[in-house]
Amino acid sequence: MIKLSKSDIGIHEILAVFKVLKKAYLGMGLEVQLFESNLKKIFKREVVCVSSGTAALQLAIESCDIGIGDEILVPSFTYVATFQAISATGAKPISCDINPNTLLIDLNDAEKKLTKKTKAIIPVYFTGGVGEIDKTHEFALRNNIRIIEDAAHAFGTKFKNKLIGSFGDITCFSFDGIKNITSGEGGCVITNDSSIIEKVKNKRLLGVLNDTENRFVGKRSWEFDVKYQGWRYHMSNIMAAIGITQLKRFSGFAKKRKQLAKLYDELLYKNKFIDTFYRNYDDVVPHIYVIKVSSKINRDSLRDFLLENKIETGYHYFPNHLLSKYSHNKELLATESIYKRLISLPLHTRMKKKDIYYIVKKIDVFTKTRI
Ligand SMILES: *Cc1c(COP(=O)(O)O)cnc(C)c1O
Repeated sequence: MIKLSKSDIGIHEILAVFKVLKKAYLGMGLEVQLFESNLKKIFKREVVCVSSGTAALQLAIESCDIGIGDEILVPSFTYVATFQAISATGAKPISCDINPNTLLIDLNDAEKKLTKKTKAIIPVYFTGGVGEIDKTHEFALRNNIRIIEDAAHAFGTKFKNKLIGSFGDITCFSFDGIKNITSGEGGCVITNDSSIIEKVKNKRLLGVLNDTENRFVGKRSWEFDVKYQGWRYHMSNIMAAIGITQLKRFSGFAKKRKQLAKLYDELLYKNKFIDTFYRNYDDVVPHIYVIKVSSKINRDSLRDFLLENKIETGYHYFPNHLLSKYSHNKELLATESIYKRLISLPLHTRMKKKDIYYIVKKIDVFTKTRI
């Protein structure tokens, strides 16, 4: 079976975890500090590691003092994690439509949904594509709202030669098992805003003030103060040990992902029943590879056919405004017309070029014989 996605775990990750287990200090300590400082060197900004990408988003929002009574603009077309992170803070996610050519948030639609309650916009960098970041910045500046980037798909991606995470307002990454790099589970918040950094650091450890510094030297706070709601969202040394190792291997991962996506683009171009989405893979490190099938194709049949041929595929994503919990959101034309035609093809660093040739060949067989 060619898996849709897969963690790339080797002997170095295994040895790194083994070392932590032998030291028997499993919680948040030296390894987390080292992972954060390695990330800081890359992004040249402050970094706080947490237990997941969802936690990163929730803590970033809360640390902007956004919550009950506030609204956040977000594309409906994202993983439910983005929506749950928003509603966890008490804020209301306001579903925005996407540009059907990029599958990224449609700023014109976002503009229409602005109200006095709007406090932030969360652009989602679907598949690693980032779109019109300049325009998002202008939009946020003009309306005095924050930008919290859901960059779960975009670790390593560049915009105008700068890494996502190295500029802008607040960036959240995910290090879950199948993202561009993993720490088992995990995520981080990156920003230049020192008040956000301080709050995220405290909030990840139940709001205990300044506990991070103690934990990094193997201690903890016994007498302390708490000023606001916190959570158990810190990263463990086991997770960080995996992350540190993955970071060293990242340039190889990035190169592989780019090569595979470029090859898909090249080969699928010839099939007139399949559309691909333009991403500049010199800048974009793709997390997933999504195609749009012609309206003549039933996507479930294609998916079944590929599965019969030992190719696993996925559907990213079911729009959030169609979920019961978020159904207060109104209809979104582009999102609703496009999502049923999207299929994600296998993309991970253990794949070989011959796998891509095989997958495209099977898609070609399907479109030639079943339409
Ligand atoms: C993975 C993902 C998240 C959440 O990250 P976790 O680490 O799984 O909590 C958020 N948004 C998007 C778009 C994602 O793909």
